[in-house]
Amino acid sequence: MRIAVFSDIHANLEAFEAFASDAARRRIDKYVCLGDLVGYGANPNACIEGVRALPQVEVLLGNHDAAATWITSPYEMNTKAREAIMWTMDRLTDANRAFLENLPPLYREGNHVWAHASPFNPKAWTYVQDHASARLCLWRTRADLTFVAHTHRPLVIRPTRMLRLAFETPEHEEVVTLTPGNRLVCNCGSVGQSRDGLPAGSYLVLDTDAARIEFIRFGYDVEKAAQKIHSAGLPAFFAQRLLKGQ
Ligand code: ZN
Repeated sequence: MRIAVFSDIHANLEAFEAFASDAARRRIDKYVCLGDLVGYGANPNACIEGVRALPQVEVLLGNHDAAATWITSPYEMNTKAREAIMWTMDRLTDANRAFLENLPPLYREGNHVWAHASPFNPKAWTYVQDHASARLCLWRTRADLTFVAHTHRPLVIRPTRMLRLAFETPEHEEVVTLTPGNRLVCNCGSVGQSRDGLPAGSYLVLDTDAARIEFIRFGYDVEKAAQKIHSAGLPAFFAQRLLKGQ
């Protein structure tokens, strides 16, 4: 089975559509979305509806989805992010709000686990990017493969020897081969708001039959998505950020 794992669309319809057509060419059987469908961008409803329309899709709750539905308080976010969330709240359709409200924070299948942030305690929204947080994933979730997002940067974390961990940034179409008992934490990056300096989306494909994970980057119309942020009256910072991939 080929599973596309993607996250952090952040209401960026241009990026989402580019992702969906890129993935459609790669013989995907199933999709797992790690959340943050909304926040920052100008098309929250269209992005939610696009994700829901994917064939065989599991969708998880992200911290922006939680704030947009008052599962958590948007007052815990920084001022600009909160402004985008308030803007989003005013525009979500009832059906899309209900959809976000009912998203689970964790998905588990066999010895694989998926969450927006650390699956160790998913609603604490902990970034998995250092030794302490990665070790909790590797040794407390009891999963061989852990898939996370939330940092907006693709990443592979693997135990090397003793208690050491290696942190590797995968390139476009880089393949990680899986061996039985291999324990890995993989971050799929972000579809709609990359933060690694490349203004391009990212996701990964887990191929369970071929025992490999492929990391993908794709381009999209960044200028159009940024222009829509300006036209919507959302904080200009989010448009500038998209153009720089930061
Ligand atoms: Zn996010």
